[in-house]
Amino acid sequence: MSRFWSDIVNQLTPYTPGEQPQLSNLIKLNTNENPFGPSPKVLEAIAKANGEELRKYPDPNAKSLKQTIANHFRVESDMVFIGNSSDEVLAHVFRGLLKHDAPLLFPDITYSFYPVYCKLFEIDYEQVPLRDDFTINIDDYDRANGGVIFANPNAPTGIALSINEVEKLATRNPDSVIVVDEAYVDFADDSAVRLINKCPNLVVTQTLSKSRSLAGLRVGIALANAELIEGLERIKNSFHPYALDSLAIAGAAAAFEDHEYLKTTCKKVNATRERVTQRMQKMDFTVLPSSANFVFATHKNVSAEKIFFALRERNIIVRYFDKPRINEFLRVSIGTDREMDAFLEAVTEIVSSE
Ligand SMILES: *Cc1c(COP(=O)(O)O)cnc(C)c1O
Repeated sequence: MSRFWSDIVNQLTPYTPGEQPQLSNLIKLNTNENPFGPSPKVLEAIAKANGEELRKYPDPNAKSLKQTIANHFRVESDMVFIGNSSDEVLAHVFRGLLKHDAPLLFPDITYSFYPVYCKLFEIDYEQVPLRDDFTINIDDYDRANGGVIFANPNAPTGIALSINEVEKLATRNPDSVIVVDEAYVDFADDSAVRLINKCPNLVVTQTLSKSRSLAGLRVGIALANAELIEGLERIKNSFHPYALDSLAIAGAAAAFEDHEYLKTTCKKVNATRERVTQRMQKMDFTVLPSSANFVFATHKNVSAEKIFFALRERNIIVRYFDKPRINEFLRVSIGTDREMDAFLEAVTEIVSSE
């Protein structure tokens, strides 16, 4: 608390990101980073942009990148919004499209940034409990609301809601904006992007941080009909017109152009995910069915907190959320096969010493 801060700052509880320790001998499985690194074509494009041209401001509309993304998704370029990370895109979405009289609805277990934005932007919200098996029941959203947001695949569960259900949700709430945060969609089977032409109230956000292995570049996007995108542009141009720097524009375009690399690396991550899931199940873990680059798991006998600290002692970092309903679970990002072997070996030791 400080008397120099505004009321709102005194009341904030900021989001706590997963830690980014600067140790080199660490196996870091806590923030869902991609172990494979960005496409070589991305690094080339960034190196090329890293020169004398940095003297100039970037294109505030990132027009060429917008066209590349529009081509990739086969939509019009006025259906594309680009921001400096999807967290920033989400901030504009909350402020510009989700602040209404009726409460915003989102699951009780989902990306923990959503309630933080609600407090920052003074948005009334209600958390809707997931079913006992951690799936979303869209019937629970049949009530007055000022919008709906959830991650799909959901975080930290990894469970995907079918696109058929997303469409039903959007159709049943025609006067609300429905936001699907597809941070992990490239590891899943299906995306809601193909619905944006027929659902004028649907916003799909994605990020280059996870599947495209560019968490350090900070690029996120939203896809929606032109009316919703214009709302986001109005906010962005009242806040941070040059949201994307020149290196990010160059790197992001190359990332969308190298679809082959994306497909290959996601496939490898998913294969490792399946292998890790099976091994963990054999060690008496219940692993939720994941469509993302992480697994969410609970052990029959040993507490999640205990495993978390025991892994830490062995220089392996995973994510533990000390929150109701999920405080017996660990979220483990999928790393390289070697990293996951080290993880599996450590967990075997930890759970069998009980
Ligand atoms: C990682 C993540 C984001 C944020 O992505 P950035 O583009 O790195 O800000 C947003 N939503 C979910 C569900 C995420 O897991």
